[in-house]
Amino acid sequence: MGKPTGFKEYQRELPKDRSSLERVKDWNEFHEHMPESRLQEQGARCMDCGIPFCHSGTLLAGMAQGCPVNNLIPEWNDLVYRGLWQEALERLHKTNNFPEFTGRVCPAPCEGSCVLGISEPAVTIKNIENTIADKGFEEGWITAEPPEKRTGKKVAVVGSGPAGLSAAAQLNKAGHLVTVYERADRIGGLLMYGIPNMKLDKKIVQRRVDLLAAEGVKFVTNTEIGKDIPAAQLQKEFDAVLLCGGATKPRDLPIEGRNLKGVHFAMEFLHANTKTLLDEKPTDHFISAKEKDVIVIGGGDTGTDCVGTSLRHDCKSLIQLEILPKPPENRAPDNPWPQWPKVYKLDYGQEEAAARFGDDPRKYLVTAKKFIGDENGRVKAIEIVKIEWQKNEKGQFVPKDVPGSNQILPAQLVLLAMGFLGPEDTVLGQLGVERDERSNAKAEHGKFSTNVQGVFAAGDMRRGQSLVVWAINEGRGAARAVDQYLMSYSDLP
Ligand SMILES: Cc1cc2nc3c(=O)[nH]c(=O)nc-3n(C[C@H](O)[C@H](O)[C@H](O)COP(=O)(O)OP(=O)(O)OC[C@H]3O[C@@H](n4cnc5c(N)ncnc54)[C@H](O)[C@@H]3O)c2cc1C
Ligand code: SF4
Repeated sequence: MGKPTGFKEYQRELPKDRSSLERVKDWNEFHEHMPESRLQEQGARCMDCGIPFCHSGTLLAGMAQGCPVNNLIPEWNDLVYRGLWQEALERLHKTNNFPEFTGRVCPAPCEGSCVLGISEPAVTIKNIENTIADKGFEEGWITAEPPEKRTGKKVAVVGSGPAGLSAAAQLNKAGHLVTVYERADRIGGLLMYGIPNMKLDKKIVQRRVDLLAAEGVKFVTNTEIGKDIPAAQLQKEFDAVLLCGGATKPRDLPIEGRNLKGVHFAMEFLHANTKTLLDEKPTDHFISAKEKDVIVIGGGDTGTDCVGTSLRHDCKSLIQLEILPKPPENRAPDNPWPQWPKVYKLDYGQEEAAARFGDDPRKYLVTAKKFIGDENGRVKAIEIVKIEWQKNEKGQFVPKDVPGSNQILPAQLVLLAMGFLGPEDTVLGQLGVERDERSNAKAEHGKFSTNVQGVFAAGDMRRGQSLVVWAINEGRGAARAVDQYLMSYSDLP
């Protein structure tokens, strides 16, 4: 695949991002494009490695490695190297309904398991994927393709994130009449109201939604199933129901001062921010970080998005608290290739904070003890303490405060970004869907059927908070399962 000697001739190269200090002045995407000829060289670095772990998407020692949608990476790398972009796009669409999303936001587990990555920097798979998809739109190769025949079967999809959208795309392709219900005012789930605009421009999301609508998928917004429409009504009106409501219950931090004004869940901040941006006027719930000392609690993707958003509001200072230790610079011995490398990275938000304030904003091995308020009930500071991870009597690692390490930091805005605890109860409860031990909808991966006849579940609602690429994997798989249930066979991949 690619050019046999490509990996020896060309170095890994990514397009430069817009400069940190420049891009925090706007909400536009921060990635730039690369000239085609240079991308072809990057495609040429894909070597004929024999067993391309990059597209395997399997579990290894309990950890996922490779591409979860099994993208045919070596094939499209080779096609890009040869300048056959349209053919590369066809290959890409065989496994991934939305490469323009994953090309922008996927953490690229494929690159962590690239064979070239054992001895050299991995092939720039994600950037090549993104460019193939963007070029497909620019050239007009991606157009609405409504199904030639309809089966007459009706499917309701609850939730319009990447799981619901990929399932809708596939079910519609199979000829079923699909209606997607979304409680928000815009379609896209976390693609629309979670991941901020600078990482994934909302015009890119809307462009795909418009295509799906042109192909015949019906979208109903501002409608919460379980409240505006009883879940049982869907069972009556549709031949199958697919639940893709996400894992939206945020983890709270019930310490002293939690009820002070100015302490918010990350999603309250991010959702209102994107809505304000898209509506071009502040929403009632808009939360401003302007000229505030901001503390973000949680070092993951959601925390990073809070960092990037606060900087764009022009916050006064910014600190991100992380309870875990700083990851190593290189793979630890118990994290070998081809597993996802758990190594230190400066993500876009931290890079911007470092450019603005001089350093990575993350403080590792610390936890919050209490929020301190002013006379108006607003948060004005936070007390933190260093922690050490020690083994308890059961052999489990638990955090222990380091005596005398307490510190008070000024804070007029605190954002809680400590992960999510699972799906909400409304729809699952109304339908009587069983839960697994983590409170997610109980449905086996591959089958996606719940204990309730004709009711299926996929995406974060089934697997817990995960990644866009896993949601696409689940949406596609669930579509095949629903198609099989409705027709007794399925030609869907
Ligand atoms: C801030 C943030 C940033 C992230 N960044 C990344 C990233 O960079 N890369 C990445 O790969 N992953 C990222 N993720 C994770 C990723 O977004 C999710 O794993 C993915 O969106 C899950 O898709 P889903 O379709 O299962 O659910 P969601 O995207 O959560 O969509 C579920 C939808 O269902 C709707 N809904 C729920 N209940 C009902 C109901 N009863 N009736 C009607 N509608 C309902 C919700 O309003 C929501 O729109 C991020 C997550 C967050 C929170
Ligand atoms: S979807 Fe993600 S894992 Fe798959 S090829 Fe693209 S970047 Fe890699």
